[in-house]
Amino acid sequence: PQIIIETDADAVFWNRCYEPWRIARDKRIKEALTIENKSFNGSLLWEPWEVLKADGTPYKVFTPFYRKGCLPYREPDQPLPAPTDIAYADFAQKGDIADLSLLPDHNWHEKIASHWSISKQGALDRLHGFLESGLKGYKDDRNRPDMENVSRLSPYLANGNISPRTIWHAAQSKGAAEGLERDTDHFCSELGWREFSYSLLYHFPDLPENPLQEKFAAFPWDQNDSALKAWRWGKTGLPLVDAGMRELYETGWMHNRVRMVVGSVLVKNLLLHWHHGEEWFWDCLVDADLANNAASWQWIAGCGADAAPYFRVFNPQTQFEKFDPEERYTRHFVKEYGTPAYPAPIVDLKNSREKALEAFATTKQN
Ligand code: FAD
Repeated sequence: PQIIIETDADAVFWNRCYEPWRIARDKRIKEALTIENKSFNGSLLWEPWEVLKADGTPYKVFTPFYRKGCLPYREPDQPLPAPTDIAYADFAQKGDIADLSLLPDHNWHEKIASHWSISKQGALDRLHGFLESGLKGYKDDRNRPDMENVSRLSPYLANGNISPRTIWHAAQSKGAAEGLERDTDHFCSELGWREFSYSLLYHFPDLPENPLQEKFAAFPWDQNDSALKAWRWGKTGLPLVDAGMRELYETGWMHNRVRMVVGSVLVKNLLLHWHHGEEWFWDCLVDADLANNAASWQWIAGCGADAAPYFRVFNPQTQFEKFDPEERYTRHFVKEYGTPAYPAPIVDLKNSREKALEAFATTKQN
């Protein structure tokens, strides 16, 4: 109300957010406003309440959500051009943004920031660079952390530097012009996974805390601080896991395939609660996103919607050989790999896999 008085505003417009605390906050703001106000969709391709099953309930499985729900509902809107005629309120006299001390005291962020150019221009450069050289081959090579076939647009989406509509339509045009329909369809379906996560968070607001499948609430998780520390700091002796965890800490991002492998090792081989992974990722990721992070961790733990079946335990060594065959990615982040300084694995892959299967099988019977 104070800003409305100070700026003599006639109306308040904003873009919707979908995190439960933000929905609650915006609802309160809306109720308090006495002038014209309206909210818009600025960050999703489809609203979570638009895409529902025929019986009016939310989808819990990705493929029907996306192929039967989203795609036939309507094509995502084209992005609108920026308004040319807009007057901004002048808050300069309120002080400098640096006075708010938003950055932490330690300088971790400086190293991370050197890998990104978090701005609208940075996002557009990244998009066009990807469309030129990464889209072709996306479907086959998106699983290779040693290759440049993913867009790395997630931090820009998470920070609101680019709209998924811009990405969607730019990819569709490029795909049609260059006959890359197969790659484009797969790339757009990954944007669909982001929509799916938002739909789950919207319909199940306790997604970050509680397993969607209730039978997992009593799962017998282990406690093991030293294993958790080794996982966090990339010192597990499992090369691909260590490379991923160090990539995360150094750059604020990790390749999706490697996220799945480090996640599987945490919850299956180490039997540590997925909350530990969710929290560490939340602290470290520049693309930290409540919906995507929570939905992905539940998927890995096998307790979420459309979750990986509990008996699917990635073998991190096989994954390493398959997806980083020349060890380029791993050696880049784990300099001591292959020297006597590199530790032996902290966990026996065969035994821990069997232990995990037993623990998960008990849950299945409950
Ligand atoms: P691309 O392959 O180029 O895909 C384009 C866009 O599609 C991405 O930017 C992203 O918005 C979306 N997308 C791609 N894969 C997924 C996916 N599996 N789920 C949801 N959306 C996807 N993504 C986040 O944005 N924030 C998170 O906090 C996050 N936490 C994750 C935690 C775990 C344990 C796992 C396994 C995945 C997580 N993801 C998260 C999803 C995924 O790893 C990243 O979105 C992806 O790696 C981003 O890289 P990219 O932009 O190059 O993806």
